[in-house]
Amino acid sequence: MKITLDADKCCAAGQCVLIAPEVFDQRDEDGVVVLLDAEPAADQHAAVREAAAICPAAVIEVHE
Ligand code: SF4
Repeated sequence: MKITLDADKCCAAGQCVLIAPEVFDQRDEDGVVVLLDAEPAADQHAAVREAAAICPAAVIEVHE
């Protein structure tokens, strides 16, 4: 799995960080998403898929 982000679209809602905190973080200054791990381990995949699905701005792209 590889993850890409279109951070320009991020509305800083933070759901991705709540669901997959080992993979996503938010910038201190504005809350925009930060990718911590672009190729997460298998035990993170389900959480990453859920984060991508619920992201209100469709920022997270998952490449299987
Ligand atoms: S869930 Fe989407 S919009 Fe919200 S912080 Fe994460 S990437 Fe940004």
